[in-house]
Amino acid sequence: MIYFDSAASSRPSEAARDAFIYADSYFANPSSVHSAGISANDLISVARKEIAKSVGAKPNNIYFVPSGTFANNTAILGSVQNYAKRGKHIIISDSEHPAVENVCAVLEKSGYRITRLSTKSGKINIDDLKNALYPETVLVSIMAANNETGALYDIPSIASAIKSYNKDILFHSDCVQAYMKVPINVNTFGPDMISVSAHKVHGYKGIGALYVSDKVRLSPIIYGGGQENGMCSGTQATGLIYSFAKAVSEESKLIASAKEHVCRLYNYVSENLVKCGCSINTPENSTYYVLSVVLPSIKSEVMLNYLSGKDIYISAGSACSSHSKTNRVLSSFGLSPKEADCTVRISFDRYNTLDEAQILVESIKEGIGTLAKIK
Ligand code: PLP
Repeated sequence: MIYFDSAASSRPSEAARDAFIYADSYFANPSSVHSAGISANDLISVARKEIAKSVGAKPNNIYFVPSGTFANNTAILGSVQNYAKRGKHIIISDSEHPAVENVCAVLEKSGYRITRLSTKSGKINIDDLKNALYPETVLVSIMAANNETGALYDIPSIASAIKSYNKDILFHSDCVQAYMKVPINVNTFGPDMISVSAHKVHGYKGIGALYVSDKVRLSPIIYGGGQENGMCSGTQATGLIYSFAKAVSEESKLIASAKEHVCRLYNYVSENLVKCGCSINTPENSTYYVLSVVLPSIKSEVMLNYLSGKDIYISAGSACSSHSKTNRVLSSFGLSPKEADCTVRISFDRYNTLDEAQILVESIKEGIGTLAKIK
């Protein structure tokens, strides 16, 4: 299997697997007051410290949640519920993940005004943001890295524009695709809230985290036993949490070397695909973990199936938008519907090799030749 689809879900690392197995004997309910429960809770405390350290936060600012989607929903709905009196205006970008866009679309139906900033060519114009800020703006939610194009947005400058207008406006950033790809330190980065997800950083699916600064109080979006300081009721998944932290501890040490390796793969694949008639969407300011490519008049699903037949895996646009008819993100980026239809996403990770990249390029080249003939 040759896997270039880490942006959809990454393979769990050995560190994640070993930690999950280690946590197997800590099966008691971490809320139980007997010693087995206390030991399970201790494991979660260790994990909370490690996740906090990975973003320069304090452990009590980290909430474990079941996914990046849950983290985004909690940040947005929890803010607007708790700060309802501040106003009913929210600013997001026009290329947010559905876990932000669809939450805001629901709020829009209930009377909130949503401003969607343009991300044409992978850029957010700070003046557009400044012009969109109003006294009734309660929240800004802008992702750090786009899941379909890999574009990196300038989160520190966005934060500074928001806070110099009004320091009470809350700023959330979906960092699911940026976490462990670029260094993030909450003390200098800017947002009051940050969402991350384990399965994008070589951990398992079913666990994520939300960082919330001391200055922010969120209303919970679900109710129950009050776990995670009331922010995510439900028995905590000790094994998933612990393995997430161990995966992150390892990835944290590898950010620079992984980036160097991934950049080499990115450059090799992009340069060679351009030679066979493809054009690159991913802008210069990107994570280099995602390469978005328009194929020469070959629909992405056709190429995906062709590569699948060779046990090679990439995505069309993104896994999350593969069920919708039009691709909102690629169209916001500036692609025509025809170009979007022919766009594939190749995503890299530190496990991919140059040999695999060569096989991928050769197979796409061969696919372009073969599929063009049967069109
Ligand atoms: N945000 C971004 C940018 C993503 O890429 C994803 C997953 O694709 C999510 C949020 C959702 O994360 P999860 O799959 O953990 O719910």
